[in-house]
Amino acid sequence: MSQELIDGFLAAIPLPSVLVDQTERFIAVNLEGATLLGPQIVGRHFATILRQPSVTTAIEQCLVDRKPRVARHLSNDGAQDTTFEVTLRYVQGLGAVKGGAVLICFADVTDRETASQMRRDFVANVSHELRTPLTALMGFIETLRGAARDDAAARDRFLSIMEGEANRMNRLVGDLLSLNRVESEERMRPKERIDLIAHLNSTIKSLAPLAEQRGNILTLDAPALPVEIPADADQIQQVFTNLIENALKYGGKKVSVVLTVLDRDPALRCAAVRVQVIDDGPGIDPVHLPRLTERFYRADNHRSREMGGTGLGLAIVKHIINRHRGRLRVESDLGKGATFTVILPQ
Ligand code: ADP
Repeated sequence: MSQELIDGFLAAIPLPSVLVDQTERFIAVNLEGATLLGPQIVGRHFATILRQPSVTTAIEQCLVDRKPRVARHLSNDGAQDTTFEVTLRYVQGLGAVKGGAVLICFADVTDRETASQMRRDFVANVSHELRTPLTALMGFIETLRGAARDDAAARDRFLSIMEGEANRMNRLVGDLLSLNRVESEERMRPKERIDLIAHLNSTIKSLAPLAEQRGNILTLDAPALPVEIPADADQIQQVFTNLIENALKYGGKKVSVVLTVLDRDPALRCAAVRVQVIDDGPGIDPVHLPRLTERFYRADNHRSREMGGTGLGLAIVKHIINRHRGRLRVESDLGKGATFTVILPQ
């Protein structure tokens, strides 16, 4: 086969691809391959370019036994790591000397790897979060069967701790189901139009007992007239319940909710409403801010657990806001309280 024909075939492969013949040198490379491995590699020994043992061994073996192989190649362009799945196939009759050549194609599988790593982390996190209360429950059951069997006071105390642990598991399962539902609906835009002020009022009313119990002052500052937006009523209520509840749990004495109608939001490029949940609490160290909406991420582990937090609230909030094509911004600093801003298109 002429060099022109070989180059033509390689150019038609939509992945970075190279050919290595029995002289162990590159005999052809397509444009994508040159971008990945560098220019002018034709004629060079493959081991001077591809140095990772999994790939070099696969090439050596494939040149000998001519069997297909798969290897892994990791590259780093300085900014990020990329993982390639490298497939090797022997092509008869190609190359400078008789015998043939190995066609090596590089498929970028970084996204797939990241997704499966995230899935593994998520399962590990859920198992860990469920196991903690479960272990406590099992421990107390054993104690109630044994040492505390005839001690009425201890029995009552243990049963109330067990109730707390069971509630914690129940909240976690509830939040997991909620997250699942929100994620599966993320692509469907809400059609219903709701009055945001009425919903904020009802959220605040339902959280008033918590505010009172904690001695907090919870206020709403909003226009007098209804403000309509396209939204899913239950989900919007969930967003503000989570944000206001967090402000009450982690914040200081004052929590204010401020609604402003914007003629045009620069980020959304349309008319929008802005709702800010502002507290005067201890705030959040800025190092945590970029990861705050990740599942199970907590700025203060101890405090979250003490407050019965599942670590999923802000992840749910983020997905709901994404579904509404809105934005969530968090501004905070230690000792300066926290402001959670939600922007929703009108
Ligand atoms: P959790 O169930 O732990 O409350 P969230 O996802 O709702 O989980 O919040 C994640 C973390 O963000 C919390 O654990 C807490 O550390 C921090 N956080 C959220 N809101 C505030 C706030 N208003 N002030 C200080 N920290 C906050």
